[in-house]
Amino acid sequence: MVEYNDIIFEISRPGRIGSSLPESDVNKIDLKDKLPMHLIRDIPAELPEVSELQLVRHYTALSNKNYGIDNGFYPLGSCTMKYNPKINEDVARFDGFSRIHPYQPAETVQGALKLLYELQEDLAVITGMDAVTLQPSAGAQGEWTGLMMVKNYHEQKGETRTKVLVPDTAHGTNPASASVAGYKTVTIPSNEYGLVDLEELKKHMDNDTAALMLTNPNTLGLFEKEIVEISKVVHESGGLLYYDGANANAILGKTTPGKMGFDIVHLNLHKTFTTPHGGGGPGAGPVGVKSKLIPYLPVPHIEKDKDHYVLNYNQPLSIGRVKGYYGNFGILVRAYTYIRTMGPEGLRQVSESAVLHANYLRKRLEPYFEAPYSQICKHEFVLSGSRQKKLGVRTLDMAKRLLDFGYHPPTIYFPLNVEECLMIEPTETESKETLDTFADTMIQIAKEVEENPGVVLEAPHTTIIGRLDEVQAARQPILRYTKEEEAVRENEVVT
Ligand SMILES: *Cc1c(COP(=O)(O)O)cnc(C)c1O
Repeated sequence: MVEYNDIIFEISRPGRIGSSLPESDVNKIDLKDKLPMHLIRDIPAELPEVSELQLVRHYTALSNKNYGIDNGFYPLGSCTMKYNPKINEDVARFDGFSRIHPYQPAETVQGALKLLYELQEDLAVITGMDAVTLQPSAGAQGEWTGLMMVKNYHEQKGETRTKVLVPDTAHGTNPASASVAGYKTVTIPSNEYGLVDLEELKKHMDNDTAALMLTNPNTLGLFEKEIVEISKVVHESGGLLYYDGANANAILGKTTPGKMGFDIVHLNLHKTFTTPHGGGGPGAGPVGVKSKLIPYLPVPHIEKDKDHYVLNYNQPLSIGRVKGYYGNFGILVRAYTYIRTMGPEGLRQVSESAVLHANYLRKRLEPYFEAPYSQICKHEFVLSGSRQKKLGVRTLDMAKRLLDFGYHPPTIYFPLNVEECLMIEPTETESKETLDTFADTMIQIAKEVEENPGVVLEAPHTTIIGRLDEVQAARQPILRYTKEEEAVRENEVVT
């Protein structure tokens, strides 16, 4: 049987055609006046010559090698890989949403603007904020947008503050965004319970500190119980409190960052609100703010004027536009569809199930792995592979072994303050049977580490590619088709 793998160049036969394009109407002579000579091709590109069926099989084979939430369980912590309901796709494809143009006058796209306006309102309620912008296209861009508002807010008061505080369990985008926004970042160590050390915070909170960025529940899955006190400390010295709400799965309908004392929040619609993610997007990272920051929101802001929806550009203190047009509109339609299909009670159930699932899995796995913070968790929890490391098997090896059983492994080696960390987020959309089968597999791997470590150390055994030389894959990737023997030769030159 012919294998439709990555051999499309090898099944190519001269003259075989899989497409019928109309005759080109570009005049080659003309082109020569308009483009530099060296950019014009003399010889046609060497593309594979295959039939339409061969091409379809090629891409289907490639898609089968991919792994996504529609393939299987994906407990990647701090990523909320939950099911993307297909009704979201149906709605995003409505002609009235998919066939409009961002340059159309606002009067002709009132339905789209109404959806955006109502989404802003819904997210404001969900986060306990006073206003929301939908423009940022990712969590990280939301963070940067929020911090630019912080900066303008302080500057408007005649203050220049240079530092942003970030706990050591924070997502890597927090210090990165702070630094892109022009701040120095200061790391606040966690205490023995995995929470912000209040005494350390007090030491660093001064007139030079613009904001504290906090994730609550944090990336260990633990709720910052002292949040009210933390908020007091930050605000007393004139700082603002930033909420990283990328993973809001534990708080929906239960509490809000607004109630906890936060001034700014970003959400990841591509995590909590079921729009697809991975592979670079598109995503959406809306930002909500308390009223004192409304003047700094990006323009245009979508507002309601009687029964009419308008794009308001008239905000003199705005940080400006952060993304073209209205943001990633199709993603916003999906998130709106999700929120409206779930309703307030449905969203509350999401959080209850997400927390229940995480605690169920935690309890099943804790006898077999070290549990540095063994207590009730929120939507995710961490384990440590330190017990297995003593037997010569690392967390990386166990993650590779999970691939043999058809799972996407959990997040590993993050947060950084847990040795040999495994960070597991099961999400609410999985069945008890899936959680049990995954737990059985993890327990089996823990037993293999004791009885037959070789099988774990040499994993994966069933994937198309085994272990990569990750350094070489990053530094010398082979990104174009190369015949096998040439690929080997290229690698020899490198090593
Ligand atoms: C995913 C994540 C981010 C970054 O979001 P992107 O959309 O990937 O930029 C920030 N903080 C936390 C806690 C996250 O989990």
